Amino acid sequence: MQPTGSIHLGNYLGAIESWVRLQETYDSFVCIVDYHALTIPYEPAEMPKRVFELALAFLASGIDPERTTLFVQSAVPAHTELCWLLNTVTPMGDLGRMTQFKEKSDQHKANVNVGLFDYPVLQAADILLYHGQVVPVGEDQVQHLELVREIARKWNARFGEYLVEPKPVLSKTPRVLGLDGKAKMSKSLGNHIGLLETDEQIASKLRGAFTDPQRLRRTDPGRPEVCNLFTLHGSLTPPDQVAEIDEGCRSAKIGCGDCKQLLVTSLGRRLGPIRDKYGALESRPDEVHQVIDAGGARCRAIAAETMGEVRDRMGIGSRARP
Ligand code: SF4
Repeated sequence: MQPTGSIHLGNYLGAIESWVRLQETYDSFVCIVDYHALTIPYEPAEMPKRVFELALAFLASGIDPERTTLFVQSAVPAHTELCWLLNTVTPMGDLGRMTQFKEKSDQHKANVNVGLFDYPVLQAADILLYHGQVVPVGEDQVQHLELVREIARKWNARFGEYLVEPKPVLSKTPRVLGLDGKAKMSKSLGNHIGLLETDEQIASKLRGAFTDPQRLRRTDPGRPEVCNLFTLHGSLTPPDQVAEIDEGCRSAKIGCGDCKQLLVTSLGRRLGPIRDKYGALESRPDEVHQVIDAGGARCRAIAAETMGEVRDRMGIGSRARP
């Protein structure tokens, strides 16, 4: 995940929550991708703070350093080296077709840089360096993961079977929409709920949230299936209560105001402990730095082994002899 400076509910439900679950079964790696974050405008002086806050948010949300290797991408320079080597087997046409490249090029017209274009190849390096077998992704990243698989296949076909083709695991909530009910939740669109926002701030934002547009009056029956807030209830509220909301909305027994209040309660139940843990960890920054430093050291060791093999097979590096 990129250190973008604001972690919101979309990041939590769409990604972090499933990483916490997956660490029960897998030897997990979670990477704070600061190299990727350089492809859009940023302030160098703010980057260390953003990285630290993201690490803090992961730990507060339940990422357990005993089971997950949490690290910062730039602590392992092999990511950029492998990216360069993979560039040599990646067709330009494939990168030009990526939806995210087109979207970001539109968003950042003044700075459509090579890094933005090459972004999916760096992602391929992030995964292939550690022989990742499964990668939890949201719907919008499935195309990139398919490209990673193709890059691995192309490289293996040219240099011999070595890189592992990763499989996608779609997160339980694949696409979290913002409070406008239209676009993906994002800070830049202003349609988000921050992970650390108080119940009062959340309640105030929910007051203006988009619901079923046909429900103009309190007495109008609603359609939960078209309401984004009902989808959020599905991820945050106990199932029996979700069934009651469904029935209450359809029969107009409950109004959208009541429904939003129930959502504030559900969000408080889920995010409250995260906010508390974040606050406690924030006062112990050394612990957070120790975790990411140890993660970086483990990753450098694994990456060195992978790069030794990759360089040998490609006929380059200090071990290559005529
Ligand atoms: Fe959406 Fe709830 Fe209003 Fe129904 S009652 S339209 S589910 S906010």
